[in-house]
Amino acid sequence: MTQETVKPLTLTLGHLYPDQLNLYGDRGNILTLRRRCQMRGIELRVIGLGIGDALAPDEYDMLFIGGGQDKEQAPVAQDLYEIKGIGLWAAIEDDMPVLAVCGGYQLLAHYYRPAEGPDMRGLGVFDAWTIHKGAGVPRCIGNVAISWNGTTLVGFENHGGRTYLGTAKPLGRVLKGHGNNAEDRMEGAVYRNTYGTYMHGSLLPKNPHFADHLIALALQRKYGIKHLTDTHNDASRHNGYGSKEQQTEKALPATAEELLSLKNTISDQSEILKPLDDTLEWEAHASMLERLGLYNAASAALRTLKG
Ligand code: GLN
Repeated sequence: MTQETVKPLTLTLGHLYPDQLNLYGDRGNILTLRRRCQMRGIELRVIGLGIGDALAPDEYDMLFIGGGQDKEQAPVAQDLYEIKGIGLWAAIEDDMPVLAVCGGYQLLAHYYRPAEGPDMRGLGVFDAWTIHKGAGVPRCIGNVAISWNGTTLVGFENHGGRTYLGTAKPLGRVLKGHGNNAEDRMEGAVYRNTYGTYMHGSLLPKNPHFADHLIALALQRKYGIKHLTDTHNDASRHNGYGSKEQQTEKALPATAEELLSLKNTISDQSEILKPLDDTLEWEAHASMLERLGLYNAASAALRTLKG
């Protein structure tokens, strides 16, 4: 295989309502996903989808929708329901990874009842609903830590709405902070590969394992990849796994066609993406846990770094 025929892996991320839903550094999630892809030879293309833009699900491999104030959420809710809803539902039911933060999360549930004005209709992806308790009730503001997938996620929340889950699964259990409603110790919601959360911050820079989880889901869904690292290094020589010692430090960008031909299965997603130096990320994660008094969880996070 000559060098010029090697095509890098590509993923396309649809950023929904970048001008309307963009609170508290949510764009940092996009920057993190792009950087973590780039460091593995994967090209992440980001396409903004504003009010009135159609959402053709086949054009994307992952989607992100951020948070916003009530006044920005109202026109977004209408556009979601009237224009993007069908395409978004198709993507979600086809297991596309979707991250929805705060206001975006609320609009993927059944409805959001703001402090003033009519209910905003949601898509009903999550069997849940959100009620703002009124301007006189303190907002849920502050740092938050939750349990997730045997580890922790940390972030920052600032929402007036209180979300209550019906049959929707929570993203995690609140260890410190308010979470969905400051009552039931649950945070976020999950449906297939769609993740809703109140965690701004932005979320992904301090949670590299969650960022990689989303990237791995997108690669698995697009290329059927189950083991990128070896395949990357050995795709030009032969199909199938290279041995661990054959892995070179710099994963070569394998061709998408070669990866499509490799339907290998592994159980552990951590083998799909070449590990990165996440010292800064895990130190930031652990520092937040320590600030919240979660010293054991902080030690566990630092062991992840050493591991
Ligand atoms: N406006 C919504 C609320 O106050 C969402 C806020 C946000 O996205 N940070 O609950």
